[in-house]
Amino acid sequence: VTQRAGATDPEPAVVRVLIDEAAIQKEFDYAVPASMAAQVEVGTMVRVALGPRRVGGWVTAVGVTPPDGVMLRPLAKVTGHGPSPEVIELSRWAAWRWAGRVAPLLVTASPPGAVVGLPPRAASVMVPGPADAAAAAWLAGARIPRAGVLRLPPASDPLGVVLAAMALGDTLVVAPSVDQARTLAARIRRAGPSMALVPRDWARAAAGGCSVIGSRASAFAPCPDLAAVVVLDEHDEALKEERTPAYHARDVAIERARRAGVPCLMVSPCPSLEALNVASLITLSRTDERAGWPIVDIIDRSRDLPSQSGPVSERLARALHSDGRAVCVLNRAGTARLLACRACATLARCERCGASVSSDGPVSSNDPVSSAGAVLRCRRCSTERPTVCLHCGSTRLVNRRPGVSRIRADLEAMLNEPVAEITAASPIETVHGERVLIGTEAVLHRIGEARTVAFIDIDDELLAPRYRAGEQALALLARAARLVGGRSGGGRIMVQTRLPHHEVLEAVLFADPARLAAAEEVLRRELRFPPITALATVEGPVAAEFVDGLRAASGSGSGSGTSVVEVLGPFDGRYLLRAENHQGLCDALSSAPRPAGRLRIEVDPLRV
Ligand SMILES: [Zn+2]
Ligand SMILES: [Zn+2]
Repeated sequence: VTQRAGATDPEPAVVRVLIDEAAIQKEFDYAVPASMAAQVEVGTMVRVALGPRRVGGWVTAVGVTPPDGVMLRPLAKVTGHGPSPEVIELSRWAAWRWAGRVAPLLVTASPPGAVVGLPPRAASVMVPGPADAAAAAWLAGARIPRAGVLRLPPASDPLGVVLAAMALGDTLVVAPSVDQARTLAARIRRAGPSMALVPRDWARAAAGGCSVIGSRASAFAPCPDLAAVVVLDEHDEALKEERTPAYHARDVAIERARRAGVPCLMVSPCPSLEALNVASLITLSRTDERAGWPIVDIIDRSRDLPSQSGPVSERLARALHSDGRAVCVLNRAGTARLLACRACATLARCERCGASVSSDGPVSSNDPVSSAGAVLRCRRCSTERPTVCLHCGSTRLVNRRPGVSRIRADLEAMLNEPVAEITAASPIETVHGERVLIGTEAVLHRIGEARTVAFIDIDDELLAPRYRAGEQALALLARAARLVGGRSGGGRIMVQTRLPHHEVLEAVLFADPARLAAAEEVLRRELRFPPITALATVEGPVAAEFVDGLRAASGSGSGSGTSVVEVLGPFDGRYLLRAENHQGLCDALSSAPRPAGRLRIEVDPLRV
């Protein structure tokens, strides 16, 4: 970057500024007053006049040649340091990739408050730590550019992986939660090396000479001498931003490492197909991996008739009687229903993709589904069939969904002790020393450890009509595994199911996530879901108008068969767009005209 003008130059320097305003996409040129020239570089945060107002923005280019005949207004103020030129370019890429504006990403990449001056650069201290052997071996042997995903079982400590990367130099570490980032930062500091915890230590990170850690936004954090990128729990959905542009920190991290020519090492007990698709898989020995997963008890309820058995089996009740903290998980969110045959107890599943099917006939809890003219429809792949049990041919299906409160009462009676109930909405102080807890998966985020984690009805997860249901179920089990610890600790996971041989359960039972990945890969290919294809959802009042414009621009919907983007839906007001890859999808999304009005585009939606 060359700066055209200094304080002594008679002609003022001109900079281009990207404005932090939702309605403004264009960048504007401003003159740099001589008094500010020394402080202004690409990334500097400034305030400028825009019409009658003053607004914030970022310098995106210096030494710009402004259009002829334009009277430039001067910068009003230099606010402080902002993202580096590399991070600005990364943000532009991410805005394309997740079909949104650049400004919100630059906000993510900027310090939480004005940073006028940077602290002295930290002196890098390398402390020989207990580096993870598998991670170190891969980092030493792989070629650049390279991405790897280390399948580290739930009970294993990721600290050694981070230390292995830090042996290469300043490392950017992306964690799914603020708590994880904070805890790991403290442990690394105790081991010696300096570590900036962003966003709090943004200025220290920008000064360089230290590694940087934070939650998903840290994918955009400053790290001037980047030598490696580590993504912890890359499968964790917390790495995906909910606001648009709904970026995924893992994919930002992979791209950032690729641009910098440094390795990107991801870690997960259950690597996502997305990671496996772009990175080489690194595994531990079977013995080591098995040791890092707890013992799993699968309670097969496939022969228990819905009408004759309660939600908690005797075997589970007996296990919950024993000492130690016990957690029962039952996800009962949304309107999904699980139907079972009244005669033979077989779950009603889609014959094509295996997800649960729902009926368009009247279903109320425990009432048989009326089969008269009713159709069972797969909410994942839309396959339909008459209301009939595939196993025995019965046309009488029942909805079996006892709620959390009912099961809690059952448990209290069986265990003869109070049971606390936790949902995502529960305040933290809901637990008053109760030994046994029951709740939605939120309960797994509320406590640090447990002797037993029991899934009352894992079939809800296994058969959820979402394309990622299998991975999501495995992630839930991996989280439970972290609470109960490794094989030698004696803790266990108990799973009630009517599908004891489901690949998700086998993956956990045999501590071998590849069993699921292999099956999922086949299914995604068959159903044309990511990572085989690229998906986006479009919703909001002007969604139809936007989709029409996109069809016109890309030639889809005309039956020509040459369209890049396939439009499905709308389903409940939401369109689903599918393309062979992100290049096609994101190019189409960025070139389609945006009508005025609210529009929400999510690329790579996790819950479809
Ligand atoms: Zn299906
Ligand atoms: Zn049946």
